[in-house]
Amino acid sequence: MCKLMRLPLIALTSCPAEFWGDVAKDFFWKTKHTGQFLDYNFDVTKGEIYIKCMEGASTNICYNLLDRNVHEKKLADKVAFFWSVCVCVCVCVCVCVCVKKGDRVSIYMPMVVELVVAMLACVRIGAVHSIVFAGFSAESLCERIVDSQCCLLITADGFYRGDKLINLKLLADEALQKCRDKGFPVGRCIMLKHLSKEPEGILGSQSPPVPWNPEVDLCWDALLRGVSDECEPEWCDSEDPLFILYTSGSTGKPKGVLHTVSGYMLYTATTFKVVFDHQPDDVYWCTADIGWITGHSYITYGPLANGATSVLFEGLPTHPDVSRMWEIVDKYNVTKFYTAPTAIRLLMKFGNEPVYKRSSLKVLGTVGEPINPEAWQWYYNVVGEKRCPIVDTFWQTETGGHVLTPLPAATPMKPGSATLPFFGVVPAILNESGEELEGPSEGYLVFKQPWPGVMRTIYGSHERFESTYFKKFPGYYVTGDGCRRDKDGYFWVTGRIDDMLNVSGHLLSTAEVESALVEHEAVAEAAVVGRPHPVKGESLYCFVTLNDGVMYNSELEVELKKQVREKIGAIATPDYIQNAPGLPKTRSGKIMRRLLRKIACDERELGDISTLADSTVVEQLFQNRCCTAV
Ligand code: AMP
Repeated sequence: MCKLMRLPLIALTSCPAEFWGDVAKDFFWKTKHTGQFLDYNFDVTKGEIYIKCMEGASTNICYNLLDRNVHEKKLADKVAFFWSVCVCVCVCVCVCVCVKKGDRVSIYMPMVVELVVAMLACVRIGAVHSIVFAGFSAESLCERIVDSQCCLLITADGFYRGDKLINLKLLADEALQKCRDKGFPVGRCIMLKHLSKEPEGILGSQSPPVPWNPEVDLCWDALLRGVSDECEPEWCDSEDPLFILYTSGSTGKPKGVLHTVSGYMLYTATTFKVVFDHQPDDVYWCTADIGWITGHSYITYGPLANGATSVLFEGLPTHPDVSRMWEIVDKYNVTKFYTAPTAIRLLMKFGNEPVYKRSSLKVLGTVGEPINPEAWQWYYNVVGEKRCPIVDTFWQTETGGHVLTPLPAATPMKPGSATLPFFGVVPAILNESGEELEGPSEGYLVFKQPWPGVMRTIYGSHERFESTYFKKFPGYYVTGDGCRRDKDGYFWVTGRIDDMLNVSGHLLSTAEVESALVEHEAVAEAAVVGRPHPVKGESLYCFVTLNDGVMYNSELEVELKKQVREKIGAIATPDYIQNAPGLPKTRSGKIMRRLLRKIACDERELGDISTLADSTVVEQLFQNRCCTAV
């Protein structure tokens, strides 16, 4: 049953402020807003781009997520996660190490409840968290710490990914050393003992040796023991920064997407409530990692704002076996389940048999990349037994929450389409000249006006924010995705149209991988393209041109893979590396990636190659293409 009728469904596109104003009444405000509810300029030709929601109002998001639900809504005894939360204690720890309102705190942790505690502790005192996915390398962590000038790093000793031990503290230390080398010493590092809770200290008998520098390192548990469990929230302005989350940028340098307090809170709370048709007795499970935006918005903020009960999962969908997900669904009676197409395709490979009892399920969600109709059908027919609506939610780190999405049981579904815009979101499709296309059409997906949860800037570079999202088509926010609209007005996102790849639902910039490869002494030039992959969506196909006199062999291949893993992280590991004595270039010297994509996929229909400087290069690359992954 869908109970959407309780929402104030008013004429949204014409009057979103009235709608959001009603939503805001459900939250606690220390002081009221003074300016317009939603004030903005989306047109670079008219001045600086800005978006402000409820400016002048003061609130605290942690207070709204915890205190309000506990005291006003009487949800103190309701399970938030199947863990227990002690945020105030953690806040006191932050205060002890001198973190103040506005300071940035880097968090590099596995999927443990203490990660949520650390996030909420930061926002309770008005500090800005910058979470770095625990699969990223030391180099990536360092880059992000330095860019956002973090004064504290919170990490853990390590964790297991399947059978593999990840020694996180070692990586954190390496990152902190790199920060020092760059002239940016981070004051303190708090480490949670996750692998070993044994009393004998940091070197618990079960855990690997953990390096310890008493001048920098502090132990989470020891700190927690010595502090008070009460802490008044710091009241923040609606437009104060809430968090920074890095996403790949097409130039290679990651962008620190900045979200602010009130708009993000209202938007994630509302999208969660409506898109998952949240009911008080639901048990919700989002399988994403909190290191990505899906985990921020739909594990922490949206569910907690609604007082939801969630499952927090640390592990792999196929470990110890391929029934793992469905066993958990059954164990906790999960009603709403949210995952990525890459996980669905992975599980689909093993057939229907491992799909365990899951009669509790009511709504299924998907996010991260276009879902192919075959995977959609399997999800709907097998996992959802044809009774659970699928919400295919299109959104980005930058949008803060869902922007194109069906509403369960209310929007007729079409497999592979994220269907229609959420309340107050106004999409358009533009052609190359920036003209809005009407009716069935295909082109650039853009948005014509903001919604409360959209990003406000790129941390430290408002100019980059304007040039990345607003310069190409003045008056519009440009998503970087291609999109088709059908005769019923449904949107079908076709994928990235910039130099970005989507591997297992994670965006990677080709430039970032290329520069990691070129940093190897053997490599003169590199070009990276995506090649379709049955599970991951896209795989990384890398062309490398070696320096004169260097021989290509399997040892070098291993080194290059290692190089990319160390620079970026395991998610960026190349699937294919091809030795390319020459790359196809235009007469002006620009690499023709379009042709490299054809070579990677063995497609001989090349289209117009009149601008190609030397056509023999292409034939040579076709002859030597990689057929098997490295
Ligand atoms: P991220 O900012 O890392 O969350 O990645 C956002 C990108 O993921 C979008 O720009 C799309 O390319 C892709 N994406 C996310 N959700 C969907 C979806 N439901 N359908 C199609 N593409 C999606």
